[in-house]
Formats: sequence, structure tokens, C-alpha cells
Amino acid sequence: MSANLVELVQSAGIVGAGGAGFPTQVKINCTVDTVVVNGAECEPLLRVDQQLMDLEAVKMLTALQAVMDQTQAKEGIIGLKKKYKPAIESLTKELVAFPKIRIHQMGNFYPAGDEQVLVYETTKRIVPEGGIPLNVNTMVINVETLLGIYDIMTAGKPVIDTYVTLTGEVKRPLTTKLPLGITVKQALEVAGGTTIDEFVVINGGPMMGKIVDVDSTITKTTKGLIVLPKMHPLIISKTKPVKESMKMAAIACMQCNYCTELCPRYALGHNLEPHKLMRIAAYASTLDTSTQATNAFLCCECGLCQYACVMDLQPWKINTMLKRELGGRGIKNPHHNAPEAAVPFREGKQFNVYRLVSRLGLTKYDLPAPMVETENNYKKVSLLLSQHIGAPAQPIVKVGEQVDQGQLVAEIPEGKLSSRIFASISGRVSAVDGDKIIIES
Ligand code: SF4
Ligand code: SF4
Repeated sequence: MSANLVELVQSAGIVGAGGAGFPTQVKINCTVDTVVVNGAECEPLLRVDQQLMDLEAVKMLTALQAVMDQTQAKEGIIGLKKKYKPAIESLTKELVAFPKIRIHQMGNFYPAGDEQVLVYETTKRIVPEGGIPLNVNTMVINVETLLGIYDIMTAGKPVIDTYVTLTGEVKRPLTTKLPLGITVKQALEVAGGTTIDEFVVINGGPMMGKIVDVDSTITKTTKGLIVLPKMHPLIISKTKPVKESMKMAAIACMQCNYCTELCPRYALGHNLEPHKLMRIAAYASTLDTSTQATNAFLCCECGLCQYACVMDLQPWKINTMLKRELGGRGIKNPHHNAPEAAVPFREGKQFNVYRLVSRLGLTKYDLPAPMVETENNYKKVSLLLSQHIGAPAQPIVKVGEQVDQGQLVAEIPEGKLSSRIFASISGRVSAVDGDKIIIES
């Protein structure tokens, strides 16, 4: 069973559906004592996991138990928010059959779904600086990833689609399963299209999501598409050049320390003090020796520091720039302290999501996005060969070849970290290039 699950997961092209797309066969090929399900869904407006945990409770628990067996974990913990009442009810009903799994309910704060915050909340273990949950005998897995595991275990079905919340300035906010490789524009049509002409689309949540073109495609890691007016404050903030953020750091940062007080990684005892990194950006000095530019490596880019800041400054953007510049010079994170305790009164400093939604100017978009079924009658898909961390998958089909939905079209290159790609529609391969395979029916 053990080796088989790793092979099965590899065969199906399953990757971490909630983040950067780390290949799941590598993630579950380990031994831990605890597996934590990330059901926090802490990014405002997204509604995928909270509904899947309600609608597919048995499937998720079955796959979780299989992952626990594979990793020899003694305990499975589903970390979700207290407010996800239907999910808690559905899971609780089924938990009788899964005695090693329990639910951990969290408050409505951001970023509850940050892997290190979630591990602390559910197990009270602190992941060391620059570390991963495996360092503290824990593995974190996403809800949708578990459903992918269930599909391959029970029906031999590989990953050909993904659950996405379509919201913001769309006619009918909803959550649905979409085939990989359709365009963002086609996806938005499922929600009735946009309600405005001058808009911008964010792929992901409002805090960590990225602005995307409407012609870009849906991948295994697409979780939400949020349509906002072009001049919405969030869009202006996301597109502000880092040079301007640096200038503002020098002009307006009053070193009040709020960004540090509310930083979730600082709260776990990590040596990350964004107000000091602002000093580096503004004056190339911290005036002390406890923080260097490399401390920026400890930032998870959750963006909360900006919304803690009364001046609306962007320490996270400066950290991102510092990491990029240091990385470009071949400098790696040198910080690996393992704090023994979180900072005192950590819970009292958690940032409420309703407050965050209001700070983001998104209150009018904070609406339900119910799960609906949609038909896959698309005529063309463009499957990216890199939808995951690691090497791009290698095409194994040629132009002109007929493929069936669910057929393997790109394989893991020999000896590389990568993930397989499958046809999301039946049709003829019309193009194969360095970064994608196009199929047309
Ligand atoms: S909260 Fe804003 S003003 Fe205060 S130290 Fe941080 S960046 Fe500077
Ligand atoms: S983005 Fe800001 S709040 Fe988030 S971890 Fe980095 S410094 Fe801390």
C-alpha cells in the first residue's frame, strides 16, 4: 500500500493545489507523526475548500487516512475555521469511522492558512526559521489535493481539472470545477461574464494572488479569479513600483513597529522584524546588529504588514525585492533558529478577516460563491508544461495526434522533480512547443 500510494499519486499528476504546486508524490514520500489538512482558506473571497470539506467529507477523510498510512502518521488534524459550520458538521458526522483524525477549529484571522501558522495552531510546534513542517515531524496537505488522491485511488482518474472561485465584478459569483488549459476569459464566462469593461483579474486571493491576463490559462494551482475595477485601491497597491514603495519607506515610515507586532512569522518567534527591514530600505541601516537584509528570507509575503500599517506602506514588497536581489547574487537564507516559544499574547494580535476585507475595500465583494457543476464542452485547451515546482513536463505527443480526455500528454523527465500532464479534453494536438501543448476538438 505504502509504495503504491506514492506511485499512484505520481501517476496522476497530483500537485499541491493550494500553493506553488509542489509535486505530491515527493511530499507524501516521508515519515511523520502528524498530517495536517489545510482547510483554513484564509484568503478573503475564496470559497473552494470550505465547500469541498462539506460536500466531499468522506472522500477527503478516506484520502487523508491513506496519506496517514503512507507516512505512518499517528494523527490527522483538519485545521479549519470555526465559521465553516457546514463543513464542521459534515466532517464530524463522518469522523466516527476515522478515530485517528480530529478537527481543530481556528478563529477568523489572516493568515491562518500560512503553513507555519497552521502547524503552530494545530500542534503547537514551531517550524524553525527557513524550515518546513517536516522539520517538526508534520506534513501539511491541501483539501483539493486529497480529493485528487481519492480520485486516483478509487477511480483511476488523473488531474484534468481544478476547483476555482469566480468572484468580484462578475454577474454570478460561484465556485466550480474547470478543465485545465481553458483561458481566464472562458472561465469568467461561466460566472456570466464581467459586470464592468475596465477590469483587472487577480489569480488567487486578494492578498497573495497575482494579476493575470485574460488570455492566460487555468492551471492545477488556480484557486480563485477575482475581477476588480482597474482603479480599485488593491490593484493600484499591487501594481505600485517597488521604487515608489522604497521612497515612501524613507518619507513616511515612522518606525511605529505595528507591522512587526502583527507579522505572523515574528509572532512565531522568528527573527523577522519588518520595521527594521524598512530602515534598511530607507537608510541602508537598521541602527543595530540584530537584523540584516537576509532576514527578509524569513518573510512568507503574506502582505499583512501593509494592512497593519497606518501609512499603508509595503514592507512585504521591500522584502520580496531584497530576497530577489540577494538570491540573484547567489546568497541563500542563513537564518535557521528554532524558537522554543511563540511571542507572548500572540493570539491577541491576530488580524480579523472582516477587518482585513474592509481595509482592502472588498466588503461589497465578500459574498457567497456557491458550488455549481458546469459542463466541459470546450473546444480548445492550452496545457502548460510547467504547472508545478520543478522541471517542466516533457511532451510525449506529436502535432496531429488524436488524444482522449484523461490521456497522458507530458511525462516527468527522467530523474527530475516534476509532474505529469493529462489531456483535459479529447481532440487533436494542434501545437507542441517549449512551454505548452494545445489540443483542439
Ligand atoms: S507599521 Fe508602517 S509606519 Fe510603522 S514601522 Fe511598519 S512600515 Fe513603518
Ligand atoms: S509579508 Fe509582512 S507580515 Fe507577512 S511575513 Fe512578511 S513581513 Fe511578516
